[in-house]
Amino acid sequence: MTGIDDLPVRDELRGQFPYGAPQLDVPVRLNTNENPYPLPEELVARIAERVTEAARQLNRYPDRDAVELRVALADYLSRSAGHSVGVDQVWAANGSNEVIQQLLQTFGGPGRTAIGFEPSYSMHALISRGTGTGWISGPRTEDFRIDVDAAVGEIERLRPDVVFICSPNNPTGTAVDAATVLALYEAAQAAKPSMVIVDEAYGEFSHRPSLLPLIEGRPHLVLTRTMSKAFGAAGLRLGYLAADPAVVDAVQLVRLPYHLSSVTQATALAALEHTHTLLGYVQQLKDERDRLVAELTAIGCEVTESDANFVQFGRFADSHAAWQAILDRGVLVRDNGVPGWLRVSAGTPAENDAFLDAVRSVVKEHL
Ligand code: PMP
Repeated sequence: MTGIDDLPVRDELRGQFPYGAPQLDVPVRLNTNENPYPLPEELVARIAERVTEAARQLNRYPDRDAVELRVALADYLSRSAGHSVGVDQVWAANGSNEVIQQLLQTFGGPGRTAIGFEPSYSMHALISRGTGTGWISGPRTEDFRIDVDAAVGEIERLRPDVVFICSPNNPTGTAVDAATVLALYEAAQAAKPSMVIVDEAYGEFSHRPSLLPLIEGRPHLVLTRTMSKAFGAAGLRLGYLAADPAVVDAVQLVRLPYHLSSVTQATALAALEHTHTLLGYVQQLKDERDRLVAELTAIGCEVTESDANFVQFGRFADSHAAWQAILDRGVLVRDNGVPGWLRVSAGTPAENDAFLDAVRSVVKEHL
């Protein structure tokens, strides 16, 4: 049988594995940081209406610049993230993964490098490799924060073209303060200048305000967001960025024409009409996240302070064995390969109870 390695694939893809969390059919799935609440029925009906309208014109290509959607996203950010942005500062694509890919196609590429502070969102490294961008694994402290001096030192020494700052960070839940972003931004400008990408996929769940206002007057700073988490619409595939208008112009050099289908644009617009209801679920999830932190601590786990819709917990002698033991009790959590630690997404109260019961019954043997 022919295998990948028998094909003339690019050297940097040899021996790599595709990204993917196990999609197992178990009663409680808390492994991919999805929102556990299905969209409300009135929104489902509105999506059907909007999509029906779009279907009548599917013989035509979609609005290539997705203007109506970008206006709605700019309006949402301006109202919710503490800083007013215009349509010319917002760009959207199929998930924030595609936004990140477009940014790396524009600002990374062969002969260039990107740095992230690990453990962090593994797609930053994978999309870098996929776009021919060299990957640099920067350090974090023992308690998973970005050590400003160490990070600045690496940026000055290695002069990367792209700097990733994930806040709140996946898989640790750790948020980054504005002073840290500014210090890394300054270092990145002095060294190159380079682009700094703040990945705020979990921004709505944070105890802290958004880092969005920092883009003002900093044309090399980009903030990325998604509708996959807070909007409960992972299946929609809609991510977006906010930055200087020049960045929005630049990514259009690499985007595929008509990359956002009319159906996607119509669905996202319907969801944005229901922002208020959807953000109500976010508040419930934040409360459940805080409950998970408190109860896991009471059980005797070490827990990393979380600003996201998930919690990192440990420390297990063998985290993979603990992952399996929790799975054997019908609850799927995530083993991100961080030694000693696992990650659980905040689910409904009943799902979280089932998870906490499973952990209680495995800690004796595995902590
Ligand atoms: N950034 C981070 C930090 C994430 O955890 C994820 C999803 N797991 C994404 C970006 C990508 O999300 P999407 O492509 O669904 O917008």
